[in-house]
Amino acid sequence: MSFIEIKDKRFSISIPKEKIQQEVTRVANEINHDLAGKNPLFISVLNGAFMFTSDLMKQITIPCEISFVKLASYQGLASTGTIKEILGVNEDITDRTLVIVEDIVDTGLTMQRLLESLGTRSPREIKIATLLLKPDKLQVDLKIDYMAMSIPNDFIVGYGLDYDGQGRNYPDIYTIVEE
Ligand code: 5GP
Repeated sequence: MSFIEIKDKRFSISIPKEKIQQEVTRVANEINHDLAGKNPLFISVLNGAFMFTSDLMKQITIPCEISFVKLASYQGLASTGTIKEILGVNEDITDRTLVIVEDIVDTGLTMQRLLESLGTRSPREIKIATLLLKPDKLQVDLKIDYMAMSIPNDFIVGYGLDYDGQGRNYPDIYTIVEE
């Protein structure tokens, strides 16, 4: 499908599933190489990162653990700026190597907030793995350790990302068509 419609918006395919899988494999290989022997705890940020997390984790071959956190900052097409923690990390993260697994870093405020909150619990180190980065929208200074792809400023859906709750199910990524 090269176009999809969700509610009042039209989207065209921008990153096909083959390209996504290729870049996810590259990120997995980098993590396997860098974090061997560290028993990292992956922290997947729900809901958006569920598909990336699943594909990534299937290719992680080093001993590791996984947990989930749920935050909310987006409504419709724009970040609200306020971030709510709906589900927290219950594991003891003292002295652990953490890898935050995100779908997309946009303004970076969600990631900054998560780094602050996890940082108070004495982890050894916190790495960031994001499927996507919108570099032109980044408002904070973040070190992104692992990134699958960098994209322009447009609103996207698919591969876990939604528009008003819909569109997370597509294996490809679609960009909004401005009319
Ligand atoms: P940030 O706090 O970095 O501005 O926003 C991060 C969150 O906003 C992401 O986890 C994601 O849920 C959402 N987000 C940012 N850009 C997009 C986008 O283009 N499409 C969708 N569906 N969500 C986005």
